[in-house]
Amino acid sequence: MKIAVLPGDGIGTEIVAEAIKVLKVLDLPFELEEAKVGGAAYEAYGHPLPEATLKLAQDADAVLFGAVGDWKYDKLERSLRPEQAILGLRKHLGLFANFRPAICYPELTHASSLKPELVAGLDILIIRELTGDIYFGQPRGRRVAVDGHFPGAEEAFDTMRYSRPEIERIAHVAFQAARKRSKRVTSVDKANVLETFQFWKDVVTEVHAQYPDVELDHMYVDNAAMQLVKAPKKFDVVVTGNMFGDILSDEAAMLTGSIGMLPSASLNSANKGLYEPSHGSAPDIAGKGVANPLATILSAAMMLKFSLQQADAADRIESAVSAVLAAGLRTPDIWSEGTQKVGTREMGDAVVAAIVGSTASTTTKTITKS
Ligand code: NAD
Repeated sequence: MKIAVLPGDGIGTEIVAEAIKVLKVLDLPFELEEAKVGGAAYEAYGHPLPEATLKLAQDADAVLFGAVGDWKYDKLERSLRPEQAILGLRKHLGLFANFRPAICYPELTHASSLKPELVAGLDILIIRELTGDIYFGQPRGRRVAVDGHFPGAEEAFDTMRYSRPEIERIAHVAFQAARKRSKRVTSVDKANVLETFQFWKDVVTEVHAQYPDVELDHMYVDNAAMQLVKAPKKFDVVVTGNMFGDILSDEAAMLTGSIGMLPSASLNSANKGLYEPSHGSAPDIAGKGVANPLATILSAAMMLKFSLQQADAADRIESAVSAVLAAGLRTPDIWSEGTQKVGTREMGDAVVAAIVGSTASTTTKTITKS
């Protein structure tokens, strides 16, 4: 098994280093190969997703990704900005299904911005369509308006679109995921205003006919945003489009205490996946050694489960994360009175220690590519 490791920028390098430490002590037969992506790749090769990085990701069995981006690249033309790397990987690898579980660990109920009783026991799964919608729709650009409120004025535009097969395949993913959970799916749309999302709702309803054992309800995105903070435990599996999923999954992250706790998996139809924390490169805390590595470590666990058929090893990681939280260790983002504040490395070390005690076995072969 070969894992492509793409740490990226900002805290990406710090948190991926901790996830690799954890993977190595599991003593599994895989090879890790690292490459630059995002701003780091732009600095080295003049492009955020160099061909060699893309090829490594294409050839690997799974991709472990950190985060990309930094404010200093904001003035670059769009195609050279670090964030284009993640969009390019999603597109080239066909990663259309994004899984973002939002689980509130019992020890972190007080770290959430919501009242503990609203989030205690929270376990929801947001499934976001990842390769369509307004993020990829063409045409897009800037032009002089020929109609609208200000004809003759400069304007910008994007295109929201979804085809039937795109909606069908993500709906199947959601219904199948729900079968392994509490058999409830909420499809989030904006069918009252947008043609694209009336179509989304119609197609999801049609696909649902093949899953009579799963309950389906539909919710407008504005209501879903409200319900997520009002009564988040009402949800189980939430399926939605690319843009709504982007926003709602960040909102759900805060329910769990910190965006630093939220892993994600993005899969293609062959179950090949890219695994990354749900957060970005956090330039505000990069290099300070305070970033929470648990979202990345939990993403590595998802990788073992979904793409590498190592469910037992994934369980070991998840249990170790629960154990360090139960022991009171907290990075600053989840720290509260009475718990022990630790940095990125100490948190990674604690997870490693919880997996194997103090002895770490490192038979994994690591190749480092510049
Ligand atoms: P962000 O997720 O990087 O940070 C938002 C806030 O959460 C910041 O206050 C940050 O300090 C905090 N935070 C994030 N991860 C944390 C962690 N592991 N531990 C503790 N605190 C954490 O979002 P942003 O500030 O809007 O974006 C920063 C950069 O990241 C931008 O360039 C953006 O484009 C990029 N970005 C990249 C990805 C990706 O690589 N997939 C995703 C989102 C944003």
